[in-house]
Amino acid sequence: MTCTAADSKEGCKEYRYYERCIRGFLGKLTRDRSAALGGAPFASLAKVNTISTSNRLLDSLSLVDCEKLLSRSKAVLLPQKTVLCEPRQRPAFAYFLTSGMLSSVYMTANGQSAEVAVTGREGVVNGVMVFGPAMSATQGIIQIAAAGYRIALDDLRNLFHSSEAIRSRLLEFVQNEAVASTVIAGCHRLHTTEKRFAHWLLMVHDRVGTDDLRLTQTFLALMLGSGRPTLTLAAGALQRRGLLELHRGRVTVLDWSGMETAACECYGVTRKLLRDLYINPVSRPTVSRG
Ligand SMILES: [Zn+2]
Repeated sequence: MTCTAADSKEGCKEYRYYERCIRGFLGKLTRDRSAALGGAPFASLAKVNTISTSNRLLDSLSLVDCEKLLSRSKAVLLPQKTVLCEPRQRPAFAYFLTSGMLSSVYMTANGQSAEVAVTGREGVVNGVMVFGPAMSATQGIIQIAAAGYRIALDDLRNLFHSSEAIRSRLLEFVQNEAVASTVIAGCHRLHTTEKRFAHWLLMVHDRVGTDDLRLTQTFLALMLGSGRPTLTLAAGALQRRGLLELHRGRVTVLDWSGMETAACECYGVTRKLLRDLYINPVSRPTVSRG
């Protein structure tokens, strides 16, 4: 998706498309739920959850719990550089991305910055803010233009307390994200920019699935906590190995297998964390049938 700032307005064609999707999705959820409740045991509801929202956390839930979240959500388009969370503030919303990717960036008073977490369609942006009163320490900025579902943090908090399954999945995702952040922190300190750049491109690819990324070298340097000259040297080394091409404001990866060889050992850890999310079944939904 190639969103511009104007695309976020509600009159935009793509926005109307996502609005139709969420209305249609909720309509089908309601019909399937009614059919399932018409005599089938409650536990069988999970078996009719065959509709994909493209968000892995939502898709890991039963129809009932997925409906609870989506019925309180609004479809949104999020152009590149949209800020969803500011340092020393508490955001009002959480976001279930269905495409694109957000970077959580730590910034110092003198203008230095480094990415400490990435979130794509595997989880929920700002989900950690449900758990307590702490302010955010990072800026959450859309790095790859995204779409998704926005829910008020108060609504998500209420569902976190009322649904065992939603609570279980949210805790699992936030724990996974925290562990991945510790790996990224160590990676920043211990590995070369060339290896970290390869690791970072692989993490983006695992979440977005595209070979062609619209990112400037200045932006990449900010994400990796490197100066631009250092990033240029690292990118040049990967380019000479035939792994990527750099254009103006664009990175095209040519060889993902070679990129894995070029990356630091951290990629093995972050890839496994992402792959293992939600592999265990959630607890049975706690919703009453009335
Ligand atoms: Zn590393």
